[in-house]
Amino acid sequence: MFEQERIELIKTLRAKGITNERVLEAIYETERHLFVPEAVRHHAYNDTALPIGFGQTISQPYTVAIMTQELDVQEDDKVLEIGTGSGYQAAILVKLGAKVYSIERNMEIYNRALKLFDTLNIRAALRCSDGTIGWEEFAPFNKIIVTAGSPKIPNALKKQLAVGGKLVIPIGDRKGQTITTLTKLSDEEFSVKELPFFSFVPLIGREGWKE
Ligand code: SAH
Repeated sequence: MFEQERIELIKTLRAKGITNERVLEAIYETERHLFVPEAVRHHAYNDTALPIGFGQTISQPYTVAIMTQELDVQEDDKVLEIGTGSGYQAAILVKLGAKVYSIERNMEIYNRALKLFDTLNIRAALRCSDGTIGWEEFAPFNKIIVTAGSPKIPNALKKQLAVGGKLVIPIGDRKGQTITTLTKLSDEEFSVKELPFFSFVPLIGREGWKE
């Protein structure tokens, strides 16, 4: 379904500078229309964020593409995602061969993702809790991706990242954020790369925003 729209979306992402072929292929293969509400389904392959209910959004495909490219996902990487939302980003990580653990704080959104993953036969471990404290039980993770904007980098996430791993997180104020990629060089050292001018819904929790 939506074959032509999907081809167009990949063209758009290439034109905007996405170069990782595996990422482009995973986006091409993932049926975004299955992750958005019926009412906005005809916009599913536009390069825009869309409402998914409960005041939340599914990120713009370009944003998903750039974050996934920054994360540098390898087959069998153990990846932690904070902010399951529609499940679209998690589905792409699964497609790239990662073992995915995803946390969502909103119970209704979590339940909907759980059902959808069951229906679509997508294998990922989902949990309903505050993702700013990570998922200690399964740490360390090779990669961690946060899909909501945070005022700072939660300490627990830095700790739960494996040495050599990457953490991709939007950092900024409530209005605008910089997609920040940390590479863990040793237990104490990180290198930092920053891509400015993005806008995410807020990360709410102990080490994020207060409601
Ligand atoms: N990755 C999602 C994007 C969803 S928007 C997708 O592909 O659709 C961000 C999500 O983060 C929202 O669903 C919001 O409820 C959730 N969120 C916000 N703060 C959180 C926290 N502390 N822990 C877990 N999820 C959180």
